[in-house]
Amino acid sequence: MSKEVKLFYSRDEMLQLNKQKLLERGVNVDDIAKIAYNQQARYNPNVDYDECVKSVEKILSLRDIFHLLQLGVEIDRLTEEGMFKGPIQDIMRADLGVFGIDEIFGLDIARLYGAIGQTNFGDIDVNKQGIVAKLNHDGKSNYPQCNTFLDDIVGAIAAAASTRVAQIISEDEAAKK
Ligand code: MG
Repeated sequence: MSKEVKLFYSRDEMLQLNKQKLLERGVNVDDIAKIAYNQQARYNPNVDYDECVKSVEKILSLRDIFHLLQLGVEIDRLTEEGMFKGPIQDIMRADLGVFGIDEIFGLDIARLYGAIGQTNFGDIDVNKQGIVAKLNHDGKSNYPQCNTFLDDIVGAIAAAASTRVAQIISEDEAAKK
């Protein structure tokens, strides 16, 4: 009997599957929303934390993000289990600084919110805080744990959420005029 193949998921299914995948790796929506909030609070005194949570959830329900997150987390898991053949296994396991494919995943997620999304991702990537700092630290020091892709995926979702919140605030400002 052939295995039933499911290729298409609803927005709600993708949100739930992404939340579940993140939780398996010790990350929850609040962890990501806090980074988005802290970043945006530097520019906007009126940031609404609930809007940050809603933005993270919206981003987690998008198909492109679903594919990137599900794939990136599986790459980390397989790396932990030593499943890759050839030099890439050790390069990913070490989270080598000049290996930039994880950043490509991050930039692609952040690109949802244009140039500002991408510069916000760069900021989070350089000034690691909260869960991003923890993932980066644990991946580098708790062998065999590997968070090479996850820290960028989480940072980029936070950057996208932060940029979305900035756009909502801009929209609210425009509506006042
Ligand atoms: Mg990384």
